[in-house]
Amino acid sequence: MKLAMICSAVDPTIGGVLVFGDRGTGKSTAVRALAALLPPMHAVVGCRYACDPELEEALCEECRERARHGPLKHKLVPVPVVDMPLGVTEDRVVGALDLERALSQGVKAFEPGLLARANRGFLYIDEVNLLEDHLVDLLIDVAASGENLVEREGLSVRHPARFVLIGSGNPEEGELRPQLLDRFGLSVEVSTPTELGERVDVIKRRDEFERDRRAFVAKWKKHDDALRRRIVAGRRRVADIDLPESVLESAARLCMQLGTDGLRAELTLIRAARALGSFEQAAAVDVSHLRRVAAPALRHRLRRDPLDESGSGARVERALHEVFGE
Ligand SMILES: [Zn+2]
Repeated sequence: MKLAMICSAVDPTIGGVLVFGDRGTGKSTAVRALAALLPPMHAVVGCRYACDPELEEALCEECRERARHGPLKHKLVPVPVVDMPLGVTEDRVVGALDLERALSQGVKAFEPGLLARANRGFLYIDEVNLLEDHLVDLLIDVAASGENLVEREGLSVRHPARFVLIGSGNPEEGELRPQLLDRFGLSVEVSTPTELGERVDVIKRRDEFERDRRAFVAKWKKHDDALRRRIVAGRRRVADIDLPESVLESAARLCMQLGTDGLRAELTLIRAARALGSFEQAAAVDVSHLRRVAAPALRHRLRRDPLDESGSGARVERALHEVFGE
């Protein structure tokens, strides 16, 4: 899960992470921890979408207007993590246009929703498999386009909404439709640790954290700072890192071996490998990066094979073995 989230933080266009697994395994803690680790962002003062003053093409309408009257004032704000509550209405998610005010006062009154708050951060959906399909569809569309468009009776508002979508779910409580599964970039399975030492370590750290948060944070600061620097450096590098033809071919061969539909699998696989290579400061993306992101990038895209009872993770492993050998 950490690997998948770091790749998404380096390159948010990977398309989010789906996390399957038991309750109480630290899924939402991991999302919050990653967001807290990222450097605070410059946001335009007074903007409801926390626009990036440096990114002119992604400014909201209001900031474009502000920019006409002089340089944009900005301040540092933490990277947002927005929780999507179950049973939430579409208006709360996308925002609400007040038609009455528009008609009576002639002003475009828009009450931003959760998508506005998630801009430039993370949107976390616990139990994504219990959310209505059309909402999941909508979230994936917005995450992919980076923009939220709200239309009511001829009125429309659009605003930037670039975020990394993290969905968690327990596969025993209903499944996601394959059409939705396939649209998430990466997927991982989180399980309760079965090794004694690992369990004891987790409990110890949690206990330390609860008894003295400040001491705990201080103890891990060096480690966190180093991780933050690598993510930031990876982000800068991701556009330029060399991607050899041979790696592209290996990705395509792997997807052919697994029989994935369409080309989304290859694209995600390559993006994730590139993010990982950038994070690790490699000179070029190589097959070892590809191998490490193969399971999270491909596992949820496999069609059910009635003759093959092994899990999808195992099938990806087998295909890796067949394509790359030892
Ligand atoms: Zn703005």
